[in-house]
Amino acid sequence: MTTTHDPHESILGTIGDTPLVELHDTPANVSVYAKLETFNPGGSVKDRIGKYILERLLERGDLPPGGTVVEPTAGNTGIGMALAATRLDLEAVFVVPRGFSEEKERLMAALGGEIVHVPGEAGMAGALETAEAIADRRADAVVPQQFATPLNAETHAETTGPEILEALDSRVGAVVAGVGSGGTLVGIARTVRERVPGARIVAVEPDGSTYGERLGEERTEAPYKTEGIGTHDPAFAEVFDPDTVDDIVTVSDRDTHGEVTRLASAEGHLVGSSSGAASVAARRVAESIAAGELEVPHETVVTVFPDSSERYLSKNVYGSFEQWEGKA
Ligand code: PMP
Repeated sequence: MTTTHDPHESILGTIGDTPLVELHDTPANVSVYAKLETFNPGGSVKDRIGKYILERLLERGDLPPGGTVVEPTAGNTGIGMALAATRLDLEAVFVVPRGFSEEKERLMAALGGEIVHVPGEAGMAGALETAEAIADRRADAVVPQQFATPLNAETHAETTGPEILEALDSRVGAVVAGVGSGGTLVGIARTVRERVPGARIVAVEPDGSTYGERLGEERTEAPYKTEGIGTHDPAFAEVFDPDTVDDIVTVSDRDTHGEVTRLASAEGHLVGSSSGAASVAARRVAESIAAGELEVPHETVVTVFPDSSERYLSKNVYGSFEQWEGKA
């Protein structure tokens, strides 16, 4: 039997099995828990897919030993893949749209990743085009494509979802999580749905993001500051499967910023903006359950905090709302 005190063979052994922590100031009779993905060694939820996807690609022979991965990413996926690549003897190239946090790029580079920029306006679709062009020029290169590969959601169906069910003895009423590629929410949803019929699955996007259109809702495209979730190109992420989602809610940058600040000062959670948005949405779902507006099999809401605020200090995450927005 292994215990948490046994030594690991490498840093990759410390990915996953993150803590689940109860949040406070929630309605009486409804518990809200957050899965703290900042406890992964690269500091985010994306360490999970870095390890899982690259190991599977190598096992299947889709990626040759010593080969190269080329991936479009806003940063956390790059850090996760670069971290895995160090111990799996792979090269890593990341195509990053300009404008995302500098801390993430420095960490990707420290882990040995090569960074190629595309203009911010090119977005993830533009970054993918460039990644494919780079991979075409190298015989040993593969684009894992977090936005399209079924291995993304599978990572969470195999790891994050079962960890949540085990920690709560399957007493899960609702899962509330932000959607970037959608892998985290869709993967957890698949495991939870199988074990807990009637559990509510709620996706979270920032105001101004247009994923809601995939669920038949009206959305108005607008810029937003919340980093790591949402899209202006809702068809792009094939991993986001609207059939596994019951509701998709939006959170304003202002509410997100307020919650990021409150989570730090009142609850000791140093988390990035996508965690703030997820927390706002999870609290709203808890209130709906408490008010009897939402029927769930258990009075328990689970959310995911994908990364840490330390990654956004240069972006004024703890400044005033206007400072964070870049307007002061
Ligand atoms: N939050 C942050 C900070 C992220 O980097 C990401 C991934 N882009 C997410 C949330 C969303 O995760 P997923 O891609 O699994 O939907």
